[in-house]
Amino acid sequence: MASVFSKIITGEIPCYKVAETEDYLAFLDINPNAKGHTLCIPKKEVDKLFDLDESSFHGLLEFSRKVAIALEKAVPCKRVGLTVIGLEVPHAHVHLIPLNTMEDARFVNKSKLEKGEFQTIANAIASHL
Ligand code: AMP
Repeated sequence: MASVFSKIITGEIPCYKVAETEDYLAFLDINPNAKGHTLCIPKKEVDKLFDLDESSFHGLLEFSRKVAIALEKAVPCKRVGLTVIGLEVPHAHVHLIPLNTMEDARFVNKSKLEKGEFQTIANAIASHL
């Protein structure tokens, strides 16, 4: 069965898109730790990040780096953190999280954003790419 993220890639499920290439997609996490929390995924559906072939793995990190640099310009924060978990969605992904405190790195205190805010942030990050 296709993962939620594969359904986002095909457009079956909507997302707040930040960036897209032939092989990778970045979109806002729907339940963010902090404003601007972004997910970067390979379009190829592979469950675990470290099971990606070497070229896809490096490609995803390069893509994530570009998105992180744009994210830091768009969302005021001390730095952008990169986390890999994958316990909820079995489709390899990297979390990019604007960090101001250690709390932002914990997946416990979530930020509630309105639809309009998600779109504004996605557009702001995209404008720095
Ligand atoms: P994990 O697999 O533990 O790294 O967590 C998966 C992440 O994907 C969580 O932070 C969810 O909030 C996020 N997520 C799940 N479904 C969606 C969706 N449809 N759109 C955006 N983010 C999602």
